[in-house]
Amino acid sequence: MAHDNKKVELLSWAAFNRDTLARHQLYATGTTGTMLEYELGLPVTRFLSGPVGGDQQIGAKIAEGVIDLLIFFWDPLEPQPHDPDVRALLRLAAVWNIGVACNVMSADLMISSPLLSGFYQRMRPDFGDREWQAAKAG
Ligand code: PGA
Repeated sequence: MAHDNKKVELLSWAAFNRDTLARHQLYATGTTGTMLEYELGLPVTRFLSGPVGGDQQIGAKIAEGVIDLLIFFWDPLEPQPHDPDVRALLRLAAVWNIGVACNVMSADLMISSPLLSGFYQRMRPDFGDREWQAAKAG
């Protein structure tokens, strides 16, 4: 996903990495997803547009364990109407220990990692009821 000022960057990055991306299941917020499908000719599961709930839908998929890498070119130079959702999304990415890339270099490093093509068991934190209640109680 990408904020408007970053969409061109994301699309050209994705086009360059099309073959690798084709080996993965792709999810995106609405507008980014439509552009990616057109640019790559690959199926993309699209959610709502970011400002109207798409970021939260992506966050929910992270919490469900469906998404394990987030490539999100967010705009560091302009405030967004849905900044609280962006913050919540990045928080969930940290909570669930998924890979996050926020710009071309971090996305390049992530997509070229040998861990991506080999077997890599992501450590998923266990927030079973008991542990979670204990953490809340302090
Ligand atoms: P969009 O949403 O792909 O629908 O533009 C991205 C965002 O602003 O989070």
